[in-house]
Amino acid sequence: DRPTAVSAPACFDYALRLFQTRLREQHVNVAHDYPEDELWVLADLVRLEQVLVNLIGNALQAMTETDGPCLTLGIAREGKQVRMWVDDNGPGIPEQQRQHIFEPFYTTKAPGSGLGLGLSISARIIDDLGGSLTVTTSPQGGARFVILLPEAGSAP
Ligand code: ADP
Ligand code: MG
Repeated sequence: DRPTAVSAPACFDYALRLFQTRLREQHVNVAHDYPEDELWVLADLVRLEQVLVNLIGNALQAMTETDGPCLTLGIAREGKQVRMWVDDNGPGIPEQQRQHIFEPFYTTKAPGSGLGLGLSISARIIDDLGGSLTVTTSPQGGARFVILLPEAGSAP
């Protein structure tokens, strides 16, 4: 499908809705770091939602209820692109693992709880949309996954 204008906060909302029950049961605090104006990305709604579901699912798996799990979703304009990020306050990703997490079938999870495909598929989707998916450390010391996509409406 050709990319169209997709609302970044609406896409986060769709993805978050799927986790509603789990977020409540695990007492996850969800914070939004959004700008005042609604930002739109050039993307495919269904595929971007799939990426956000993968990232949020990973974040929820990384956090434990005893630590006061906190999920932060962020959106910001960055030049002609839009940055969307998913932060958690889990243990983060050790430096030596970071280079492998986007490889297909790489997982540190117990057999049966992860196929190790989520991030490789997500990176491929974002790449196909002309963007990038990267990982860094969140302000709380957990993982931060950052999506950069072209802003809808800006010149190519
Ligand atoms: P899976 O979730 O099936 O293991 P993914 O491709 O989604 O596969 O993720 C690959 C690996 O990256 C995970 O097994 C985990 O080691 C690491 N990872 C991904 N997201 C996080 C996160 N938010 N916090 C800590 N580690 C993570
Ligand atoms: Mg995963």
